[in-house]
Amino acid sequence: MEYQVLLYYKYVHIDDPAVFKEEHLALCEELGLKGRILVANEGLNGTVSGTKVQTEAYMKAMHEDPRFSDMVFKIEQAEEHAFKKMKVKVKPEIVNLSLKDDIDPNRITGKHLSPKEFFEAMQEDDVIILDARNTYEYDLGHFRNAIRPDIETFRELPEWIQNNLSDYKDKKILTYCTGGIRCEKFSGFLVKEGFQDVSQLHGGIITYGYDEEVKGQLWDGKCYVFDERISVPVNRTEKATVVGKCYYCAKPEERYVKCGNPDCNKHLLLCEECEHEHLRSCSGECKEHPHNRYVKEHSMQGTVRMQ
Ligand SMILES: [Zn+2]
Ligand SMILES: [Zn+2]
Repeated sequence: MEYQVLLYYKYVHIDDPAVFKEEHLALCEELGLKGRILVANEGLNGTVSGTKVQTEAYMKAMHEDPRFSDMVFKIEQAEEHAFKKMKVKVKPEIVNLSLKDDIDPNRITGKHLSPKEFFEAMQEDDVIILDARNTYEYDLGHFRNAIRPDIETFRELPEWIQNNLSDYKDKKILTYCTGGIRCEKFSGFLVKEGFQDVSQLHGGIITYGYDEEVKGQLWDGKCYVFDERISVPVNRTEKATVVGKCYYCAKPEERYVKCGNPDCNKHLLLCEECEHEHLRSCSGECKEHPHNRYVKEHSMQGTVRMQ
């Protein structure tokens, strides 16, 4: 069976997110979709998977709603569902930036560059290529020479910029994220902070990878995605490079696990040997944690074998 994964967002006013959520969940369930959708007064942000027929029906239904008539869907082919369940959640924001003074990207945002324009701009002298994602996303793959902000969540990014990039306000900034949604607000933040020349990759890395002309050039490694696939390829021109490295032994590795300590859950690139040796933990403390999941899973297997 042919499956598709849809990635989409729209900053548009939604009057009553709670009512919208109920109706929207009913629509998705009726169609047989699985995925995760966030709804807020400021708009909608979703990733869903389903068969070709299901996803086409969903896009048609959405485009019939005047609020979403021009919504762009990034469509990826898949062999199965990318999610286990269908969830629609009401949130204060569709991406959590938690600014004291929130940004409306319909009023203030950076210039939108097409994949080809972004590709060309990256090769100009004296530009700053700025990754707007978290370290664990960057570490699996990123644009060549991009800056890696040292952040675990998106809402840490504004402060990181204020502490690390405020001397570069006259430089040309090229920022990017997975599907483009984070950059809509983030580039608006940069403009408001006084950065003179701010551009964002329209449609994000996913659109860039599918662009017929640039074919993902200048991307190294893979692109981290927030569903069961964990990562997707981007660069379709060069031999695949692995930029991810095992957290412990630094061997090339693209396998992500979550720290075995359920209170930690840090994303770790870990090879199988190191996972075993360190009980899938990021630290001695997490290794010794009484509820370490790796220990639990393996002692359970031991029990089964003994029976
Ligand atoms: Zn290792
Ligand atoms: Zn840990």
